[in-house]
Amino acid sequence: MLAVREQQDNDTAMIPALMPTYNRADLAFERGQGVWLYTQDGRRFLDFGAGIATSSLGHNHPLLVAAIAEQAARVMHVSNLYRVPQAERLAQRLVDASFADSAFFCNSGAEANEGLVKMIRRAQHDAGHPERSRVICFEGAFHGRTLAMLSATGNAKYLHGFGPPVEGFDHVPFNNLNAVRAAITAETAGILIEPVQGEGGIRTAHLQFLRDLRATCDEFGLLLGMDEIQCGMGRSGKLFAHEWAGITPDVLSAAKGIAGGFPMGAILATEPVARHLVAGSHGTTFGGNPLACAAANAVLDVILAPGFLAGVDHHARMLWRGLEALVAELPDVFAEARGAGLLVGLKCVVPNAEVQAAFAAEGLLSVMAGDNVVRFAPPLIVSEAEIAEALAMMRRGGLRCRPAAVRTAVT
Ligand SMILES: *Cc1c(COP(=O)(O)O)cnc(C)c1O
Repeated sequence: MLAVREQQDNDTAMIPALMPTYNRADLAFERGQGVWLYTQDGRRFLDFGAGIATSSLGHNHPLLVAAIAEQAARVMHVSNLYRVPQAERLAQRLVDASFADSAFFCNSGAEANEGLVKMIRRAQHDAGHPERSRVICFEGAFHGRTLAMLSATGNAKYLHGFGPPVEGFDHVPFNNLNAVRAAITAETAGILIEPVQGEGGIRTAHLQFLRDLRATCDEFGLLLGMDEIQCGMGRSGKLFAHEWAGITPDVLSAAKGIAGGFPMGAILATEPVARHLVAGSHGTTFGGNPLACAAANAVLDVILAPGFLAGVDHHARMLWRGLEALVAELPDVFAEARGAGLLVGLKCVVPNAEVQAAFAAEGLLSVMAGDNVVRFAPPLIVSEAEIAEALAMMRRGGLRCRPAAVRTAVT
């Protein structure tokens, strides 16, 4: 029976060698320069997706390329059985520049969030509250694709077919303090929030809501976790987006832009939280190896240089004004501009896939997000001229997307 089935499967096996877990656009890029990407067949695109908010220094940045090449030629990986000076330096710089007292390095966003939740649980456990293991998360959240982070994400579509969801995550509506307070029980350990929901549709947490979450955590003895994997590392115009609210979390996850496209994640925590993960309680083989840390140190060299983040803020405001003008001009295509810093989106009236395709036809790369949004997360090194060019492409792309009736009425 099995043999027969295998035979049939082989006859009809049309699965690509590269597992088809993504609906990929038919574009293959051969090289990039700054904010531009070039295809094998010679076309060029303005990259306002940055590999999903990851290529923070754009493509072929000379400092990042040199740092990786030099470190690769010395030593790439030694394991965490030895001291890694590049990791010590990176941790110290992140600590000096943030709320945190200590950093743990890993390899992806989901892995960072897993460690973040472990830290929250372990800190409550060691403080005499082993019953406090649940984390309050938000509707529309995205925290990654591991089994536990699927549960933290809570999206039924992502959980479907993968067996029993991991226990311990409760979901409440975003920006709703009453719902948060109502969801707190004797088993609640902490709260995990994206200051700007990326995948969920570029929905920003109100700054007052973030302040209220901090106060609520203090009131109930809960730990506040920020998932800044997409909105952190300079993208908001400050190193971390929660800084705009004037509060600090207890623990934070970073990844995506942290090493400019080299795979890396990080957990930053205050001392009272961090001290509960000791030798033997958490680990990773690749995390924080010399090569990844050299890349991340090069990214910090750029984004922590005096004036750089102020420049991100300046460019972000220019992009925002342009998006607002587009919404005003083409209300039958664009419903609303959303976001913070260089993580922004256009909520669309027509399907966002059509809008994204029209932008690509104009030579502009963007990324779809939930809630019918097209997202822009350009490299942080984007210039005024490139923003102006992107806005012109968005306008031409938007004009293509006008519903036919409106188009004929106007012309
Ligand atoms: C991308 C993302 C993750 C998951 O990161 P991976 O590196 O894909 O595991 C988690 N949280 C947020 C907010 C993200 O944007």
